[in-house]
Amino acid sequence: MSGIQDPKPEARIVRCPTCGGDSVFAASNQWRPFCSQRCRQIDLGAWASESFSLEASPPVEDDSLPH
Ligand SMILES: [Zn+2]
Repeated sequence: MSGIQDPKPEARIVRCPTCGGDSVFAASNQWRPFCSQRCRQIDLGAWASESFSLEASPPVEDDSLPH
């Protein structure tokens, strides 16, 4: 008599931010929302390099200040 199947909210499929593939967004996936450890490290590495380049840029505003 039961025609409705219970959904499983614990297992959600999301898109991996790094490779765009399917990633299991669940407690079993410790790399979520990434699909794997590799994709997670790639994303963190890209973010770190961007932050580093911003910090490495010379302070050009200091040159426009009047003495
Ligand atoms: Zn991925």
